[in-house]
Amino acid sequence: MKKLVIIGGGPAGCMAAISAKTHHPEMEVILIERNARLGEKLRLSGGGRCNISANVTNQVVIEQTPRHGRFLYASLESMNPPLIKKFFSERGCPLVEEDHQRLFPQSHKASDVMDVLVREMNKLGVKIILHTKVEHVDLKKNHIQTSETVYKFDHCIIAVGGLSYPHTGSDGELLLKMKSYLEISELYPAETPLVSHEAFIQSKCIQGISLKDVSLTLYIEGKKKKQVIHDLLFTHFGLSGPAALQCSSVCRDCFVKKQKVMCKLDMLPQFKYHEVENMLKTHSLKEVCLKYQLPARLIKAYEMLSIDLSEIEFLKAWPIHIHDMRGFNQAFVTSGGVSVKEIDPKTMKSKSFPLLSVCGEALDVHSHTGGFNITIAMSTGYHAGKNFKD
Ligand SMILES: Cc1cc2nc3c(=O)[nH]c(=O)nc-3n(C[C@H](O)[C@H](O)[C@H](O)COP(=O)(O)OP(=O)(O)OC[C@H]3O[C@@H](n4cnc5c(N)ncnc54)[C@H](O)[C@@H]3O)c2cc1C
Repeated sequence: MKKLVIIGGGPAGCMAAISAKTHHPEMEVILIERNARLGEKLRLSGGGRCNISANVTNQVVIEQTPRHGRFLYASLESMNPPLIKKFFSERGCPLVEEDHQRLFPQSHKASDVMDVLVREMNKLGVKIILHTKVEHVDLKKNHIQTSETVYKFDHCIIAVGGLSYPHTGSDGELLLKMKSYLEISELYPAETPLVSHEAFIQSKCIQGISLKDVSLTLYIEGKKKKQVIHDLLFTHFGLSGPAALQCSSVCRDCFVKKQKVMCKLDMLPQFKYHEVENMLKTHSLKEVCLKYQLPARLIKAYEMLSIDLSEIEFLKAWPIHIHDMRGFNQAFVTSGGVSVKEIDPKTMKSKSFPLLSVCGEALDVHSHTGGFNITIAMSTGYHAGKNFKD
């Protein structure tokens, strides 16, 4: 029996195994995972609820993928948001839609998503090997070396993830070892929170406040680089939430180069500047905040700023200096990975080593938060499992 070995049991590896056994039942499919159970990162995702996908078209998934989105055209034909929805609801895990078209399991439990994947693999006869770290892939001898033994393979799929949240198992070690065969583009944290040393942040008086659908504009050396309308969270060290995470994509090198980075926050983007100015002629700042459901605690931050900042600027163009961004320990995804130039998007196979495929976050493709990263992990995984044979 010919043998497919898949390395990494996250959403990409599990979907690759399911797809391989579905399309090629004659193959022996072996999934090797270093942890004691599969999908540790997925179990944490969406705050333990797993924002598994988004109720959007393939085109929107591509638009929400700032790094090599166009690479996904073919894989999204094989597995995409409506097909993910169908796959999970047919297996007893219906998905429900929340704000920003995000899809979650109805049970609000990420573990239910993993249960579906594990049940399906067991049903199909995928051989799952846990607690086994792959140390080396030898593409000349077609075998992999694990902490325990050596496995020969007829085909191998790499699904080892990126480097973010390395304690979940995806620490980049095997990915970096693959450098002897494949071009690995520079790995750096993406979709990561922004650090600010501003006094109102450091005082923690607004820590924990979250704002819905505000506008955050990021400037580098005074030049506007990105504007995002989405949710924002003040943390004890700076800014998080989708608006800040998306802005992080443009400030990667700025801190090394010591460039000046600043955000301007517009808390009432639904109104024009002069409309808010008029409101403040007849209402106090506190009244405006209350009327538009902005937390009254924000006033404390304004009190620290009021010498230099007018009320209208505070509401419509609040400047927040950014001094750094968080590293891999807090990044939602990794930018960089196996270069898309190395991989045929129609099959996910390596162009130089046709017995090797790569899928998921190990690839140099990543999306914004909102369910898109698990979507692309499942989509590229499914596509790899379907198309690894000639
Ligand atoms: C805190 C957090 C929350 C997130 N929330 C969401 C969300 O709600 N929605 C969303 O779309 N995305 C979310 N993401 C991103 C998403 O979880 C990842 O993009 C996705 O899990 C990538 O899937 P993957 O299968 O490619 O890699 P991973 O999920 O990282 O899986 C890779 C697997 O390979 C294993 N492995 C690595 N090296 C080896 C080796 N040498 N031998 C054997 N096994 C190995 C690892 O242990 C791991 O289990 C979140 C990320 C984080 C960090």
